[in-house]
Amino acid sequence: MSFTAFGQFPTCRPRRLRQSPALRRLVRETSLDAGQLVLPLFVRAGRKVRVPVASMPGVFQLSPDEIIREAERAQQWGVAAVLLFGIPETKDEKASGAYARNGIVQQTVRLLKKHLPDCLVLTDVCLCEYMSHGHCGVVEKAKGGRVANDPTLALLARTALSHAEAGADVVAPSDMMDGRVAAIRQTLDQHGLADTPILSYAAKFASAYYGPFRDAADSAPQFGDRRAYQMDGANAREALREVAMDLQEGADMVMVKPALAYLDILHRVKTEFGCPTAAYSVSGEFSMIKAAAANGWVDERGVTLETLLSMRRAGADFIVTYYAAEAARWLKEG
Ligand SMILES: [Zn+2]
Repeated sequence: MSFTAFGQFPTCRPRRLRQSPALRRLVRETSLDAGQLVLPLFVRAGRKVRVPVASMPGVFQLSPDEIIREAERAQQWGVAAVLLFGIPETKDEKASGAYARNGIVQQTVRLLKKHLPDCLVLTDVCLCEYMSHGHCGVVEKAKGGRVANDPTLALLARTALSHAEAGADVVAPSDMMDGRVAAIRQTLDQHGLADTPILSYAAKFASAYYGPFRDAADSAPQFGDRRAYQMDGANAREALREVAMDLQEGADMVMVKPALAYLDILHRVKTEFGCPTAAYSVSGEFSMIKAAAANGWVDERGVTLETLLSMRRAGADFIVTYYAAEAARWLKEG
């Protein structure tokens, strides 16, 4: 059998470029850098509070003072961005806590910007953590508990505005209501916040990988599920349409969530639109590695860095990951 049909062997030998670490580095196509990582943080009321999230080893619900410490630690490893989620003390059917001027996220944003002005503060914009029923929008009881799209938009826009007014650098709507990017953009612009970017969770799939997050954010729906607004995991072309619509509505950056089971979506989004694209490596992805590593079944460092690299290679400019600080430390230590 002749190998010439597959290339120019023996002239061409790809192994020549794999002979030493320096040579491999020279021809490496994809980089992974701490500056491309975003650390999600869960904030709750109190002082010196660190409540461990059982299903996510090393992840805590933190009081605002502890958020500062955590963000500072991450910053020391080179992670300059955090994504805030709020856990309010009370919930209701209007999600009042989501857009309260002195809500838990708004307070924490102000504190972060005051103590760590160089820390880039992204805020998750959604209502589920603040709704007594745990859904991402206004529920119409008369319609069998359906989540109403249009009445939700005003509340989301109000929430984003309150975050931006508190000093958030980027607002990131994750609810998957139609038209929310336009509603948020318009509201921000009307209030003199035309420079606040929107990172849209444009292709957010209804996923079993979110399981551990619901422990972390106390946001499991009290009835039903989120399949009537989050995307069906089978759909790639629809994801591209979602991204196109969000960009048209004024999204500055788009996100694909989850990441690992949706690398093809990341790749297609990046190829098709070329816009700043984020991957959210979700709680289930994190917890699977943690659990396997705790059992000694995989090398945590190796598997984590390889997984994050796969997201960069697929097309993500940056990655939201619970591993942000640890990965940054591993990268620094080499
Ligand atoms: Zn939500």
